[in-house]
Amino acid sequence: MRDSNVPFEFKGDASEQTYAQKTWKVLTVEDDLNYQQALLNSFNAISLDNNESLEVLTANSVSEASSVLSRHKDIAIVFLDVVMEEDDSGLRLVNTIRHVLGNNDIRIVLLTGQPSFAPEPQVMQSLDIDEYWNKSDMTVDKLKSIVSSHLRTYQYISQISNAKQGLQLVLDAARSINSKHDIRAFSHAVLDEIGKILHLSKGGGVLCVGNEKHVDKHPKVLTSVGCYRGLDGKELSTDVLSEEAQQSYILARDKKEHVFSEHYSVFYFDTADVDVSYYITIVKSDVPIDEHNVFLLKVFSENVSTGFSNIALMNRLTELAYTDITLNMPNRNWLQREIDNMNKYEQAETQLVVFEILQFDEKSFRFGHDFCKKTHLKMRENILHTLAPYHPRIAVFKSDSLGVLVSSHAFEDESIVDSLKRQSFEIDGVRQFLDVRILVMQLIAFEEHSAEQIFNLAESTLNEENTQRAELLYYTLDNTKAITRRYELMQELRTAIRNKELQVALQPKVNLTTNKVIGFEALARWQRDDRTFVRPDEFIELAETAGLISELDKLIFDKIMQTIKQFAEQGVSLPIAFNASTFDLLADDYFVEVAARIEEYGISPSLLELEVTETQAIFNYEKINTCLCRFAGLGIKISIDDFGTGYSSLAHISEIPAQIIKIDRCFVTDIQESKSNQHIIEMIMLLAEKFGFEVTAEGIETEAEHNWLIEAGCNIGQGYYYAKPMFYDDALQWLKGWSN
Ligand code: C2E
Ligand code: MG
Ligand code: MG
Repeated sequence: MRDSNVPFEFKGDASEQTYAQKTWKVLTVEDDLNYQQALLNSFNAISLDNNESLEVLTANSVSEASSVLSRHKDIAIVFLDVVMEEDDSGLRLVNTIRHVLGNNDIRIVLLTGQPSFAPEPQVMQSLDIDEYWNKSDMTVDKLKSIVSSHLRTYQYISQISNAKQGLQLVLDAARSINSKHDIRAFSHAVLDEIGKILHLSKGGGVLCVGNEKHVDKHPKVLTSVGCYRGLDGKELSTDVLSEEAQQSYILARDKKEHVFSEHYSVFYFDTADVDVSYYITIVKSDVPIDEHNVFLLKVFSENVSTGFSNIALMNRLTELAYTDITLNMPNRNWLQREIDNMNKYEQAETQLVVFEILQFDEKSFRFGHDFCKKTHLKMRENILHTLAPYHPRIAVFKSDSLGVLVSSHAFEDESIVDSLKRQSFEIDGVRQFLDVRILVMQLIAFEEHSAEQIFNLAESTLNEENTQRAELLYYTLDNTKAITRRYELMQELRTAIRNKELQVALQPKVNLTTNKVIGFEALARWQRDDRTFVRPDEFIELAETAGLISELDKLIFDKIMQTIKQFAEQGVSLPIAFNASTFDLLADDYFVEVAARIEEYGISPSLLELEVTETQAIFNYEKINTCLCRFAGLGIKISIDDFGTGYSSLAHISEIPAQIIKIDRCFVTDIQESKSNQHIIEMIMLLAEKFGFEVTAEGIETEAEHNWLIEAGCNIGQGYYYAKPMFYDDALQWLKGWSN
């Protein structure tokens, strides 16, 4: 079977091969030249019916006969002398014809001068020898009747064997086209096989066109070979077809059936059961196609027809897998395939833009499915229209979002962002306004990533809390690098926590009026193997997302216990504050474990202070408050950290069992300059007084800030002005110096 990619070539010599020839070849093999001459005279005297004629070939020895036979495969009858060089020369030649040359069609008539050399009947049968004659009995009439009867037999036998060969070809052809699943490869294989079945000569050619029914356009050429070669992909113009071909073609198309004319066989196929396409194959043959070939082509065309239907079916199924059925537009699978199939150049030129409809769930709940569908379609229309100059391709990304592939400069134009982030259109006669969040991702930044990974990044970016209020988000290579770093850091942090490598730094809290140290805040420190420190803001957040925060905080708490012990050994008895995260406070076992540690170390709870940020304290207020109450019950002081940055309601603040409020650093920095910050701090002081909180100011760096806070009535302060966070030895050293 030939590879369908190899260019098609027609057989040049095949036109000779046909059963329809009018000249029959006959061979006489005879070493008695006189008798042979007499035989030739008799042949000349024979006239056949229907303008058929004889061509008589001669040989005078077995070897000569073999050579003639191998050159002329279409000899119909051989008249063979039995006794030549040897007594059984003739029989040996018969054996060669049947078993070596494999010629089973040729008719064999044995002749002999000596009747005693007649072969046994079973030999006659096994070698398929038709007759046995005495040379002396062979009259002209006898010869004529032998010739005409054996010519009929030969014609009949060779027709059958041709048909067998042809059917074998059709079978092979069917097998070869069945493996092709794409319409071009399939039609190419079909044409290729038709060429083989017909043994098409150089002047012949095959053309296959396809089109949608009802589309009044010239159909496209799917494949073209032979004299039609070079038309692939073009519209079929009737100029390339002869008048005879055009007529057959139009007839086949209009009547939806195969049409056979003298030089053209035109096959009509359609895939009505699956889609609305039809295919027409035009076969041009130089020599008139005979009935036998028409028959073969018809048999083959059954296979072709099934093949076209199968491919249409496959395409339809594929289409379904890549289509959102409700919206009748490409779906996320499609988007994924498009991205995965892009080369580097295309990636560099393309952005993936996700348009997320805000409050979609609420809309869907209030207005129903049909409204949402219309919203999506209107949004698609808007996007396609606005981004038209940038060749947008759009697909459903999630139920509340559309994904668009668009050329990479589209979002440099601010007016585009403006018109797409708030869209307005009419649905069922009512004007609707749609707020949309736009995430832009440069695909080149994700060269190493699969489309699925890119989608995951897109989703997690849109879901991140700190992006919720942004209208336009850019996701770039830096984000990807950051993610990789985060992942690596996460792995390292896990190991560091397990190996208890995290340390505690202590930052003193000072009474602003007396300058006495009233305690410390314990802050976690993580030094990596390369000696660099990772900022707590970064690794605390990482530990929270990785589910490591409870482990981390327990570790730090343990170290705080040890620190308190060490201080006690030095005669220092000062409370240490520890930071707890929401995750700790929501976990059932956190309080239990902390309490168990306090018990184990035999430490007075009054030496401990729990800091929880304002934002976290308010989040899931009831549950956290219950937990805080348990700590307070133990005698541990509670302070609300980073106060002023959260959105606490006064009602809740008054209910939290806290004694201390820590004013966030952002209000303290340059306090003497900022009227609004001064105002805020004054408010906080009033609030604290009303609810009986102590106030600590964080982040005091200068004397001016220190003085201003004293003036404002703030008692306690913490900041670089007094000391940076220090490890235990330095802290002890500092403490001694400070007291002096
Ligand atoms: P925080 O609890 O509000 O801690 C105060 C932060 O302000 C510390 O940052 C401290 O080093 C810094 N700071 C103190 N004085 C000054 C100053 O005068 N100027 C400036 N610029 N900064 C000052 P740090 O150590 O980076 O910690 C950041 C945050 O990480 C902490 O804020 C706390 O929320 C969290 N954190 C630290 N350790 C832990 C821990 O063990 N567990 C938990 N859950 N969170 C922790
Ligand atoms: Mg703190
Ligand atoms: Mg703070």
